[in-house]
Amino acid sequence: MSDFSNRVNEISISGIREVFEAAGEDAINLGLGQPDFAAPEHAQEAAASAITAGKADGYTQNSGMESLREAIVDKYAQDQNLSITPENTIATAGGSEALHIFFQAHVNPGDEVLVPDPGFVSYAALTKLAGGTPVPVPLRDDLTLSPQAVESAISPDTVAFVLNSPGNPTGAVSSQADIEAFAAIAESHDLVCLSDEVYEYTVFDGSFHSPTEFTELENVVVINSTSKLFSMTGWRLGWVLASTDRIEKMLRVHQYAQACAAAPSQYAAEAALRGSRDIVNEMTTTFQTRRDMVVSRLREIGMEVPTPKGAFYCMPVVPDGFVDACIDRGVIIVPGEAFGAEGAGSARISYATDTGQLTTALDIMADAYEAVT
Ligand code: PMP
Repeated sequence: MSDFSNRVNEISISGIREVFEAAGEDAINLGLGQPDFAAPEHAQEAAASAITAGKADGYTQNSGMESLREAIVDKYAQDQNLSITPENTIATAGGSEALHIFFQAHVNPGDEVLVPDPGFVSYAALTKLAGGTPVPVPLRDDLTLSPQAVESAISPDTVAFVLNSPGNPTGAVSSQADIEAFAAIAESHDLVCLSDEVYEYTVFDGSFHSPTEFTELENVVVINSTSKLFSMTGWRLGWVLASTDRIEKMLRVHQYAQACAAAPSQYAAEAALRGSRDIVNEMTTTFQTRRDMVVSRLREIGMEVPTPKGAFYCMPVVPDGFVDACIDRGVIIVPGEAFGAEGAGSARISYATDTGQLTTALDIMADAYEAVT
């Protein structure tokens, strides 16, 4: 008999962590999922002055400060032309908590949730923690999620499907036609589309679309976060956007798990959302330059690489032994199977690292490739 809950016994620490632990101290880390930029100065200053003015010492409203939620409302009016109210959102401890409260509020034991495979590690784990069953949906060759594949995986037990565009670990960006199709699937099958939009601002080719543009808010729950939008991973500030009835249910979980998001971070997030987007443009341009460099070099080395259109990852097909050969030579990359069974045979390379280190890492990868082929 176990001393622990079946739910927690069902999950394990992410495979990404194991890779970090296997690497030496001087290794070049291309395993990281965070932008290598400073948070916007106006966000840092807003938090600092709220702290010194004594405004950030107490709890805020459970759902977050009204002024922050107003800033989130304005973001959606500006970016998606959506008309929502502060009652449609909860400020959370990062996108991670936003995902947690979504799954806790929507999934019953025995329910199925369709998750992209390969896909971000949290979706399957949080489905299991809620007692549900994650059902992996394999991606197309270009690593986008296919609406047909989602539709054919739907069973009478399906309650939700996860869309993550731009995607982690793939960098793939869904087309507008696919996003419209996902909105239609949610509507016609009466399922929730969980749209994880944390990489919304990092799109190089084409443009970002959210299913909220194409169906009633009732059919979609959006999660987003300052982490990747504004390079603020350590601030732990994200949000959910949903219909008021879903918000009311998710707030119950948030209230008991978190009470409220950290007050200083709420001030910082409000300033980030209201302030200049220069940092966003600078990050996107930088990531695009690195994307071009990494993809062309990997292809030169001999690897097949679907062109990532967003985020800051790429996912080449790699030969057997390649990931270990890279790690042995001091370059950390993550084996694709850390993101699902369909990830086997590929690897995730993050290019949220400066060009100098990337160039060195690519030389080392060329050597590793040579050694295993
Ligand atoms: N969704 C995706 C797809 C992610 O890659 C991440 C972070 N790696 C998150 C959600 C959660 O990010 P955070 O909790 O920092 O907002």
